[in-house]
Amino acid sequence: MSDDVTFPGDKIAIIEEYESGKNTFDDGHNVRSTVIGTTEIDKKNRIVQVRNSKLLSVPQINDIVIGTVAAVMSSMMAISIDYINNKPINSHVECICPTRNLRKKSVALVNDIVVLKIINHLNGTIHATINEPELGVLFTKCKKCGGHVIQMRDAIKCTDCNWIDDRKLSKNFGKSDFVKLGE
Ligand SMILES: [Zn+2]
Repeated sequence: MSDDVTFPGDKIAIIEEYESGKNTFDDGHNVRSTVIGTTEIDKKNRIVQVRNSKLLSVPQINDIVIGTVAAVMSSMMAISIDYINNKPINSHVECICPTRNLRKKSVALVNDIVVLKIINHLNGTIHATINEPELGVLFTKCKKCGGHVIQMRDAIKCTDCNWIDDRKLSKNFGKSDFVKLGE
């Protein structure tokens, strides 16, 4: 399987070279995809088609996503999405989430598991919010020692080294059944 992910409207071949196959259309010059999927080129029959993968999906506005924090910057963070509305995905779609108006020193750390809501798609970037009670960190570790942490009001405390830190916690923090795996 190739990593060549196409989106609806993406140009995948020129019609002089390939005919339009499954999940594609011919716009008069190019063959374009009609779905999100992976391109398959049949060189022998000169047909290009797109395999529509159920596992490749892009979250829509108001979808609830669960992901792993990939990077933390001063005013936003980037999250690699693992679940959309509780369904696992493997397309490694990323979204960004602004954090500057949360007044927290550490909204989340890299590798924390967070739950977010998608708010819009802007210039090809998926934007999410963390600023609702059920949204926020679901799983985190101690910044100092990597130890287990417990919730103390809206902060967390390490059970190993007693370090207290802040996070934007989800009200579901500490509930390990936040996703039913394999569903
Ligand atoms: Zn610690």
